[in-house]
Amino acid sequence: MTAREAGRAVAEDARRFFAKSFGGDPTLVVSAAGRVNLIGEHVDYNGGIALPIAIQRRTAVAVRVRDGARVTHINSGGTGGVLRIDHGKLARRRKWTDYPSGVLDQLVGVGINVPGLDVAVASDIPSGSGLSSSAALEVAFDFAVRSALGLDAEPVALALECQRAERQFVGVPCGAMDQLSAACGEQGHAMLMQFAPVQMTPVPFAERVLVVDTATPRSLRASAYSERVAECQTALAAIQRLAPETATLASASLEQVEAAEMPDVPRRRARHVVSECQRVRRVAEALASGAGFPGAEANASHASLRDDYDCSTPELDWIVEHVRPVRGIAGARLTGAGWGGCAIVFGEASALEALTESLPPAYERAIGRAPRTWLVGADDGVRIEA
Ligand code: ADP
Ligand code: MG
Repeated sequence: MTAREAGRAVAEDARRFFAKSFGGDPTLVVSAAGRVNLIGEHVDYNGGIALPIAIQRRTAVAVRVRDGARVTHINSGGTGGVLRIDHGKLARRRKWTDYPSGVLDQLVGVGINVPGLDVAVASDIPSGSGLSSSAALEVAFDFAVRSALGLDAEPVALALECQRAERQFVGVPCGAMDQLSAACGEQGHAMLMQFAPVQMTPVPFAERVLVVDTATPRSLRASAYSERVAECQTALAAIQRLAPETATLASASLEQVEAAEMPDVPRRRARHVVSECQRVRRVAEALASGAGFPGAEANASHASLRDDYDCSTPELDWIVEHVRPVRGIAGARLTGAGWGGCAIVFGEASALEALTESLPPAYERAIGRAPRTWLVGADDGVRIEA
């Protein structure tokens, strides 16, 4: 199945699910992509650069405008029935409808009188595994609603609106990478991404990547993430005492990091951020020149995240150490914030395919949990399916 066909299959699921939930046809079906960050971790909130791909795992949203009350009736496969979101009483309810509610909150907040909507959602992105199903849901929903109402739906502005929805309404202090990937990805390309201001350069990337889910809980993540954000602020403040012109941690040099007076922990966080951005630049240059993904940079990124950023886990370390000696494998690293979630593996297609067979039973023997794996390549961001 090609990427385009896979997207159509999810869109067809959304259309069928719409008919089952509400009767009749939607006016519009759109889909947005999950994402994998190839390299550039914990840099988005430090003014740095990352290199994600949108993947062929997608979330489709089918929508139809309804007369009457300003209420969205919404159903998502597997969640157990149609739910109501009253546009006049938007509030966080700590369930999945917070994501579309957050988007509605943004739309209402800029003065858009969103009419009543029927909405069906279908997805083949595993949710809560680090492939960014939340951003795909926000972006697909926002794009569907804006398009159905004939409103502007420029992908970068749309992505930033969805980021605000997740930060302000859902309460996740996320950077913009997930939403920008879901909205702006390009098939066959990784997106070299800068965040403040947003700037994106597509870089050719025709390889596939093996994603391995550790199947471990990510319960520590939220508090650890906030702690890292604060530690990076401490490091930046220390560097600014020596070099006041330094606006972001990512723009500091390794020499400045070493010269500034600060404790060991913020120094290691800063060292990761600065060195990670250098790795992203070298990877982007290699890919632009037509080379394969430089696996050594992936390995160095993992070591930095493990030793300097303290966000790896024994399970993530096990995966990268297990795959690296395999013939045809170029390198491996954790992807996403860490503290659980997924690792990614780079290398020859046949070697990656063989690992999809051999890795899960080996991991299960060693760790006692069954991991899921996905072979993914670079796909488009948000698009109209029908
Ligand atoms: P990730 O974005 O890495 O998948 P998150 O914890 O950020 O993990 O987001 C997962 C949450 O997003 C789910 O728990 C659910 O609330 C919501 N979600 C994502 N996709 C869907 C979907 N297709 N239908 C309903 N809810 C979804
Ligand atoms: Mg998410």
